[in-house]
Amino acid sequence: MPDTPEEKAKPQKTDMSERIIRELPLIRRYSRHNVGEDMQFRAFLKNRLKMSNGELDGIVQETTDVVWAQVDCTACAHCCRTFEIVIDDRDIKRLAARLSVSLRSFLAQYVSTEKDGTKRFSSSPCPFLGEDNLCQVYEDRPQSCRDFPYLHTAGFRERSMTMMENVEACPIVFNVWQRLKRRLWRVNR
Ligand code: SF4
Ligand code: SF4
Repeated sequence: MPDTPEEKAKPQKTDMSERIIRELPLIRRYSRHNVGEDMQFRAFLKNRLKMSNGELDGIVQETTDVVWAQVDCTACAHCCRTFEIVIDDRDIKRLAARLSVSLRSFLAQYVSTEKDGTKRFSSSPCPFLGEDNLCQVYEDRPQSCRDFPYLHTAGFRERSMTMMENVEACPIVFNVWQRLKRRLWRVNR
């Protein structure tokens, strides 16, 4: 129990129950406060949780489905506004065809290439995010947009550091991470 006004003002590490938290400022505050705990949970996932990768991925996916059904990405669009979106050659071809422009002009207008060859949209927020917060090229969006936040992708245990980095940025990842802590950690340690 907190015993000073300062303690009272801090977000508590304890159970946030099954409530979904969508507000990014609150998510940021909780995430920064819980960074030590999150590092411990990650170490637990990597080294001590006695569960196969497949079984863990299944639990992550099931938890994601429950959380995602309660989060409206079109009301958030935080990833579209702040991330530097990776695109590959297939994405570029598809998007250029959709916009009826040549590959060369698409590359010149929208793409920057890093030293290691990785291509990204050259501006952020994404140039295809509409004023209505919707993706203007949804059916042809890049593969990385389809896969984000990668919670349905196999290999959660190996990617847990990346997941931790996204806890603060994505309400879906944040809420899934909290539920996993409750489900896997607090009952197994
Ligand atoms: S994937 Fe995450 S960050 Fe992107 S719009 Fe949905 S909730 Fe927001
Ligand atoms: S292409 Fe669409 S889904 Fe991808 S970042 Fe841009 S607006 Fe978001």
